[in-house]
Amino acid sequence: MGVTKQILVIPGDGIGQEVTAWGKKVLETIAENYRHTFSFDEGIMGHVAIEATGNPLPDETLAKARRSDAILFGAIGHAKYDNDPTAKVRPEQGLLRIRKELGLYANLRPIKLFDDLLQASSIKPEILQGADILFFRELTGDVYFGEKQRNGDSASDLMIYHRYEVERIARKAYEAARTRRRKLCSVDKANVLEASRLWREVVQEVAKEYPDVETEHMFIDNAAMQLIKDPKRFDVVVTGNLFGDILTDEASQIAGSMGMLASASVGDTVGFYEPIHGSAHDIAGKGIANPLASILSAALLLDISFGLKEESQRVIKAVDVTLRQGFRTMDIANKHTPNDFVLGTDAMGTKVLENLQ
Ligand code: NAD
Repeated sequence: MGVTKQILVIPGDGIGQEVTAWGKKVLETIAENYRHTFSFDEGIMGHVAIEATGNPLPDETLAKARRSDAILFGAIGHAKYDNDPTAKVRPEQGLLRIRKELGLYANLRPIKLFDDLLQASSIKPEILQGADILFFRELTGDVYFGEKQRNGDSASDLMIYHRYEVERIARKAYEAARTRRRKLCSVDKANVLEASRLWREVVQEVAKEYPDVETEHMFIDNAAMQLIKDPKRFDVVVTGNLFGDILTDEASQIAGSMGMLASASVGDTVGFYEPIHGSAHDIAGKGIANPLASILSAALLLDISFGLKEESQRVIKAVDVTLRQGFRTMDIANKHTPNDFVLGTDAMGTKVLENLQ
């Protein structure tokens, strides 16, 4: 029997507008094919919301988010803020606040390598083949939310973690490791940072509840190096907000492009699904952005928020088939890709929809 769900779509800024349209179309097609009833509402956030209301996360968007069963988000950001550190109202405040308000403390980033994209990465295919990593990045603590100060020519951001914040994400990561290869690597900088020493201590305690999962602790500098040297050694990786931000962008090179990676932010209520990339001012409005990260975000939404595993796999398969047919957006094309197989956003999205039928 079909399910009935309410989905909030927040396209945001720049290419967020262009790619999220395709994530939504994929959800509509799945609903039609499997006789589910998905109703959609739309919200504004980021630069578009500042322009319209002066607030990067208007109350109306937050209220709609609380009422929905899942949220499909695009990206926020505008060039005018990137070079103006003095701007008090900024697009990213909307994103940080919605994560905090909805209690989205765990960011899951599966690094899934499609075989046909082995050549798109700058890492050698023999090192990449078989890599399959699931990152858990803590999302509501760390320097992003600690006290910020500016005194004349000095500035500081407080890196702060509480025991409960580490415990709850560690448990989520261990539970996921149990459904995979039962290996968990916790990344920190415990040789230097007190916040990391607490992190490691708590993960060591939680590890005792999961004796069937092999635990490894690694310093962030080593992890950054091992990720490129031998990505296959990782199964589940759990880390703090700052280290996770950097490591997962690095890991996007394993998948070939930022335009290929989806993420899920979850807590104890509604799930929030988004590509890992930003609003990409350099290509916004040109119709060339890769829509696959948004489409794969829709697949994660079906799986994690709605428990629709078959439908989620169907979307991933449609992406896989499209890549096997040789179609590429500019970011994942290479010198061997024939010109007429290099597609824009809408043509690529259309191919995936055809392969979903
Ligand atoms: P970005 O992720 O927007 O872009 C980085 C590079 O990857 C660019 O060259 C871009 O063209 C390319 N790229 C990204 N997504 C792509 C796609 N789908 N298809 C093809 N190429 C793609 O990061 P940035 O340039 O550092 O930041 C741009 C803006 O986005 C900034 O204002 C930043 O604050 C914001 N940002 C937002 C988020 C978010 O909304 N979650 C995340 C990161 C950055």
